[in-house]
Amino acid sequence: MSDPPLTPMMQQYRELKARDPDALLLFRMGDFYEMFGEDAERAAPLLGLALTARDKGPNAVPMAGFPHPALESYLAKLVQAGQRAAVCEQVEDPKQAKGLVKREVVRVVTPGTLTDEALLDPKSANYLAAVVESSGKLGLAWVELSTGRFSLTGVSRTELTDEMARLNPAETLVSEISLDSPWVRTLRTHLGPTITSRPSWDFVSEQARNTLNEHFGITTLAGFGIDDQAPEVAAAGALVAYLRDTQKSSLGHLTRLTPYRRADVLALDEMTRRSLELTRTLRDGKRDGSLLQVIDRSCTPMGARLLADWLTSPLTHLEPIAERHEAVGELLGDSLLRSDLRSSLGQAYDLERLAARVGTGRATPRDLAALARTLALLPKIRARLTARSSKRLNQLEAALELCPEVRSAIEAALVDDPPLTIKEGGLIREGYHPDLDELREIARGGKSWIAKFQSEQVRRTGIANLKVGFNKVFGYYIEISHAQGSKVPPDFIRKQTVKNAERYITPELKEYEDKVLRAEDRANELEYELFTTLRDRVAAEAPRLIQAGAVLAQVDVLSALAELAARHGYCRPEMVAEPALEIEVGRHPVLDVLMPPGDFVPNDTRLSPNDGTIVVITGPNMAGKSTFIRQVALLTILAQIGSFVPARRARIGVVDRLFARVGATDELSRGQSTFMVEMTETANILNNATAHSLVILDEIGRGTSTFDGISLAWAITEHLHDVVGCRTLFATHYHELVELEKTKPRLRNANVAVRESEGEIVFLHRIVPGGADQSYGIHVARLAGVPAPVLERSREILAFLEKQHGPDPGPPAGPIRKVRSGRALTGSLFAALPDPLLDELRKIDPATLAPDQAVELVKRLRELA
Ligand code: ADP
Repeated sequence: MSDPPLTPMMQQYRELKARDPDALLLFRMGDFYEMFGEDAERAAPLLGLALTARDKGPNAVPMAGFPHPALESYLAKLVQAGQRAAVCEQVEDPKQAKGLVKREVVRVVTPGTLTDEALLDPKSANYLAAVVESSGKLGLAWVELSTGRFSLTGVSRTELTDEMARLNPAETLVSEISLDSPWVRTLRTHLGPTITSRPSWDFVSEQARNTLNEHFGITTLAGFGIDDQAPEVAAAGALVAYLRDTQKSSLGHLTRLTPYRRADVLALDEMTRRSLELTRTLRDGKRDGSLLQVIDRSCTPMGARLLADWLTSPLTHLEPIAERHEAVGELLGDSLLRSDLRSSLGQAYDLERLAARVGTGRATPRDLAALARTLALLPKIRARLTARSSKRLNQLEAALELCPEVRSAIEAALVDDPPLTIKEGGLIREGYHPDLDELREIARGGKSWIAKFQSEQVRRTGIANLKVGFNKVFGYYIEISHAQGSKVPPDFIRKQTVKNAERYITPELKEYEDKVLRAEDRANELEYELFTTLRDRVAAEAPRLIQAGAVLAQVDVLSALAELAARHGYCRPEMVAEPALEIEVGRHPVLDVLMPPGDFVPNDTRLSPNDGTIVVITGPNMAGKSTFIRQVALLTILAQIGSFVPARRARIGVVDRLFARVGATDELSRGQSTFMVEMTETANILNNATAHSLVILDEIGRGTSTFDGISLAWAITEHLHDVVGCRTLFATHYHELVELEKTKPRLRNANVAVRESEGEIVFLHRIVPGGADQSYGIHVARLAGVPAPVLERSREILAFLEKQHGPDPGPPAGPIRKVRSGRALTGSLFAALPDPLLDELRKIDPATLAPDQAVELVKRLRELA
């Protein structure tokens, strides 16, 4: 039996749905957006909507919907849930439609293509990425539609994961034929559900190149410094194709494709970025408590986003770092300049995103007004940047385009406080357009005519409380209370009965009403036209406006870093090429701010080929080892993003790669054992660190048995010392490693000063030379509230072990060999523990035991067991 025929509207629905089956289709029906079938079932729980059914019987389909004014808030929920939604509108007036109303998808909203202010986090970039595999190589491209930034690079498999972690894209495009590739599977575990599959031809090199050439109006990408044949070009082309499909609007603000060169930035792998809590904390993944949140003194969302970008890609060349330092220094030294700039920036709107919204044809009248207000701030900002001594500030001054004609065009056309909507009038200033003024005059004249008409009718009928009113459904009416009903003249036509009154019209009133409403309608239409013309004109300038936004972002970040330095007494680090790392009175930038003033204990650091490149820091848990080593890494990163650093003095040799492996994390949730993850990451460090890298290791080897752990930690340290030669800070509670200092010339021991009095220990958080020689584990366990009997027992065991093996099991002298013999120790270690049962057994001499004594003994032993 075949299905009954679909209603024409459901047919229309099916056709629209088939064009983009993966997107949820929000189908406009009168005042509602409705979803049907699987869409309804998928979206209803996400949006908290009731699931109902459309049509009855065999044609019944699940349905869920919401009223049209709630569109933006429901879209926000959908994209947050990683969904794509196609918004389908009625594109003709239902009153005029013959038969079925025409409908079209006017916009596809996807997590990676947002431009609406309401849907975006002002402080984070919102990237759309595409990854492609071509002849065994991977290409990556990413774009931020809301600001027009568009970049690409070639990557290896591991680099891909790192870059994706850095970008944290809201959505990633891959070719439908790659969906089962191992790298897509890796991406899925990292990115969750935000992978969008796209037709494979979008990723074919030639097709992609054509798309890009056509978009930029060029014949080769060489002008951007990009090799036309590189795999990432295919990814970039696929991005543009997707944007065209989903945006259905101009992409004029994507004017440049910038190659991303990894050698120019300090490589931070995903683990390092996470361990150091650069932009999110390890514990709950929040921005609060991260380095970014603590150092962010920016005044604009553009600045906040740029700072996040700088922090995740610090520089590696001395010159650009020095340029930033110089600018920060100048802004730090001139507090008036800084406060002037910051107060102007504080009034600026998000110029980059406003300009991009104009560029995609989505700007509201309020957006344009905000844009003009921001442009009005530019002359003052530029004047303050004039004749500065630092090169960067001068460059920014030169690059800041004031775009005065855009500003005056907006100011001339728009009223001061325009509404959000563009179809209901009230946007355009009086005197801007003669036709509009005339139509408005008629509309207003009509209204005054109504007043006159009312007083005439009062006079004529003698009904003092006769009123002329207006409502949307019936238009103008004359309202007369029931009590006065007898006085109603015969030419009044009754229209509506309301409580206590009747409403009438007259032909004369109707005629005027038509004229007024027509004039109002025409005025609104004309306003809409004038607005879209203005918007198109501004859109043509989108690239310049975005550039002005980018300049403001830089000025904002540089002044924010100066403000940070001023507030917290940061110093300008001396940057050098040789692998030195000297910090005097350095502080941890986050703890320093979060702890009560004066509580944080500053520390010095000294690493150089002469002073030693490896420091092994031993000491009890909770003493401050990880804080110290992270501090050194954070100061290095701050210095390389162009920031000053929390220290009295710092001399930092530029680091090419920074590796941090700090503590066990939540890797278990990804289904790998902690130890396996730890070793994979360690292997990555050993294979990729260079003599110019900085390595921060915390408690490596903890995930295995003690002797295994010691031997690994030992061998890893040796390799870093003998083969890699990079600057390394290694925090460990394996005291055994202090012995390495005897044979390794560039290795130094350090420990955390501890004061002990009457069995209590106080951590001084001060790093001092030399190895730690005591285990404070039991004291720490007591501080942590481990029950007294357990502490008692562990003291007993410790005393016994020390008696058996000396205070320290002794270091493995030849790294691997001795450790093997050590492993046997593990077996005998606990076998040798005092045990009442064994003690009793040892006392027995079977030769002297009578049978009844033997029975007695067995009973006693059983009690002990
Ligand atoms: P470890 O790595 O030795 O186990 P942590 O570095 O985790 O110790 O430090 C433990 C706690 O000690 C930190 O949470 C912090 O509160 C405090 N701490 C560490 N270093 C300092 C310091 N330099 N000044 C003040 N408090 C510190």
